[in-house]
Amino acid sequence: MMTIETDAPVVGLWIGGERRAQGSGGTHDHVNPATGLVGDTIPLAGAAEVDEAVVIADRAFASWRNTPPAQRQALLFTLADLVEANAAKFGELSARENGSPIVVATTVVGKVVEWIRYYAGWPGKIDGQVTSAYGPDGVFSYTLPQPLGVIGAIITWNGPLMSLAMKVPAMLAAGNTVVVKPSELTPYTPELFAELVSQAGFPPGVVQVLPGAAEAGSVLAAHPLVRKVSFTGGPDTARKILHACAENMTPTVLELGGKSANIILDDADLDTACSQGVMMGIGLLSGQGCAFPTRMLAHRAIYDEVIKRAKTLAESIVIGDPMAPQTMSGPVVSRQSFDRILAVIGRAKRDGARLITGGGPLNRPGLDGYYIQPTVFADVDPDSDLAQNEVFGPVLAISPFDTDEQAIEIANNSRYGLSGYVHTKNIRRAHAMAEGIRTGEVLINGALNLAANRPFGGLGISGFGKEGGRDGIYEFLNMKSVAIN
Ligand code: NAD
Repeated sequence: MMTIETDAPVVGLWIGGERRAQGSGGTHDHVNPATGLVGDTIPLAGAAEVDEAVVIADRAFASWRNTPPAQRQALLFTLADLVEANAAKFGELSARENGSPIVVATTVVGKVVEWIRYYAGWPGKIDGQVTSAYGPDGVFSYTLPQPLGVIGAIITWNGPLMSLAMKVPAMLAAGNTVVVKPSELTPYTPELFAELVSQAGFPPGVVQVLPGAAEAGSVLAAHPLVRKVSFTGGPDTARKILHACAENMTPTVLELGGKSANIILDDADLDTACSQGVMMGIGLLSGQGCAFPTRMLAHRAIYDEVIKRAKTLAESIVIGDPMAPQTMSGPVVSRQSFDRILAVIGRAKRDGARLITGGGPLNRPGLDGYYIQPTVFADVDPDSDLAQNEVFGPVLAISPFDTDEQAIEIANNSRYGLSGYVHTKNIRRAHAMAEGIRTGEVLINGALNLAANRPFGGLGISGFGKEGGRDGIYEFLNMKSVAIN
């Protein structure tokens, strides 16, 4: 029987500006992935609290939409300052809730602050367009951007704070109110975020955070007062959300998974290409990132060298207790993920992929949680299970190619379409790759994703809609067309 860890953070349901200790959705025993021990029993929102929160958010919308832009801006800047001041605390909670290494989780807070400040700059800059100025028909027309109302935000466990930053500030800057349902696996950072929203002085009901299980998410998506749903998670859940949204035709933004190709051309800087591919692909967050470069495609002329480097890099990843400052990679999030990832590794071996390093659980005294060895496979068949399906764990697939066209063809041989990575010193080849890869973004020569000013979002089963940049705020505005005779 698992024991309870002490000093667990307090988690509640944030409804109407107050924290409640109980919900009708029952409770969830939160397991610390680094130890496999129950850390805390958290309350879950059920249908009743979701309904209550949405009604409150709808009422709050009436005044929030008319709050002067400068005031919305000031509140968002205050929130950014508070998040920044609590970086260490967020890092600690993050390590505890999903096993993110504390050093990674604390660094992510910098990105989070960047996103909040970016959207804090938007409230006074939202504009429409004059679409005709007394044309031949005598009609003057313009577009009027208006907030939508209550937004339902459903987020997953791998980076809840980052997901909050990519959603909530844009929604608020546009004048909407938001009800967030975090995953029950990661309640701690959303709890602190909710607390800071309250400290920043946002009016009650503008942001409400309700940890809950699947049922709470589906009630939120189906609620008739929810005007748009923004979801981050996997394609299977996204399909259920689309069903829940169908009755009211509620529009959605879906930020789903990926199987992003990292194309290394024969003239690439191999230091950058291999370290981005390995450290991001299987080191950072133990491979549990939607946009990570998990399919490494290497030109045959450098293929053996790339494999050699990938092995060395994978074996250099410092795995350990997420709370330890030197740890680069922690456990995977849950027993269920652990078992699923090991099954993927087993299938890849049976499918004939060549195991270069790793390939099993990490058994080391003192590490009792869900640790998996950083694993690299070479000679991976582009049509195999490993190349086609997101692992969401520390498993890298390397395949060779002979021509640039073939690299694009292999990269596009995927139902996903989130990110693409390219490494080359030739600008012409870089542009051709950027043009040819069917994804929401292409990152060249080590450029990193998740910049607040750039739209992020995929194609295919990676979802649709954007977060970030101008597109990320206009997702939450209705462009009303007005014409005057
Ligand atoms: P998931 O899809 O199972 O769950 C995500 C959220 O949906 C949780 O809050 C969960 O409680 C809720 N949920 C579950 N069933 C629901 C239902 N029927 N109706 C409404 N809500 C429901 O999460 P997962 O698949 O374990 O998450 C990992 C996935 O998330 C991966 O595919 C990953 O690539 C993706 N992801 C995408 C991004 C991005 O920005 N594109 C970022 C992080 C993770």
